[in-house]
Amino acid sequence: MTDQVLRDQFGRGIEYLRISVTDRCNFRCLYCMPLEGMQWLAKRDILSYEEIADIVGQLAPLGLRRLRITGGEPTIRPDLPALVRMLRAIPGVEDIALSTNGVKLPALAAPLREAGLDRINLSADSLREDRIIAIARRNLGLSPIAAAQAAEDAGLGPIKFNVVVMRGINDDEVVDFARLAMEHPWHIRFIELMPVGDMRELTFEHVVPSDEILGRLAALGTLTSDEGPRGNGPARYFRIDGSPGTVGVITPMTHTYCGTCNRVRLTADGRLRTCLYGDHEVNLRDPLRLGEPMEPLFRRALAEKPKEHQLLQMQVGGLRALSQVGG
Ligand code: SAM
Ligand code: SF4
Repeated sequence: MTDQVLRDQFGRGIEYLRISVTDRCNFRCLYCMPLEGMQWLAKRDILSYEEIADIVGQLAPLGLRRLRITGGEPTIRPDLPALVRMLRAIPGVEDIALSTNGVKLPALAAPLREAGLDRINLSADSLREDRIIAIARRNLGLSPIAAAQAAEDAGLGPIKFNVVVMRGINDDEVVDFARLAMEHPWHIRFIELMPVGDMRELTFEHVVPSDEILGRLAALGTLTSDEGPRGNGPARYFRIDGSPGTVGVITPMTHTYCGTCNRVRLTADGRLRTCLYGDHEVNLRDPLRLGEPMEPLFRRALAEKPKEHQLLQMQVGGLRALSQVGG
């Protein structure tokens, strides 16, 4: 194991890589993808599992210790456990997590755990069947509770939920979601909607500030600040009256957490992005395919990592959707 720490130009330690394995998805969430007209990457442009493992293998000795597999929906890429197995075998990799909408978890949780996955984040914006379908704009029989249970039974803990809160669409379920943290050792994180990508139906009016969410949760009991589950996220956590799980808020819109950002992203087509939003990307795929080393490219990208994102200055629809940048 290495105790080397990679630092960017502002001295932030960088130890966390989010890896997008596909830009495609079996959902079309209101806030993420338009119903029609997505332009998909061609298969030859997407990194193979071997290429992803090659990149991580070259970067892990520099101090990259934590990985998250994301997308698009990562579980729709064939044989995802094979990638997890390759990543698990890389010395220095301490933690491998997965972000998923949960549709395939009942079938995949056990093989993913066996392959070496540590934990999952489950995106779930409603607990009501009709709403799940209305927000995802697909009816794939998803039950977030069953998906979380399958992950828990397979040993993929701690289980974190990501709930994107949208005014007038699902904000009346905040308390129902929080109750899950009072009944299970689950961590329910409420995310402020980011007006990005091609969101024809949503505007800034749909953003619910985290302070308002916390105000509503106070109806359930006393919220005590908590360090939350292990992981590396930007969430602020609270425990309600000693419950087994926690509730948290992620506040890209109302409070910036860029000062403690410890992450970079690898897109499905092999671009290293040092900020979720902004035009800072370095093509790793083409040099990799030519046999060039990754370290100098990685260091150059970190030297250009911006101080903070520009989300609040952007127009709605002016930025790439999270599914395209490995959100
Ligand atoms: N498909 C997987 C999933 O849904 O978990 C992984 C990719 S998805 C892009 C990653 C996370 O980004 C999800 O939790 C999703 O809710 C969140 N997300 C996507 N678009 C967003 C937006 N406009 N505002 C806030 N969160 C968003
Ligand atoms: Fe797919 Fe995740 Fe985007 Fe929803 S948020 S459309 S599940 S990539």
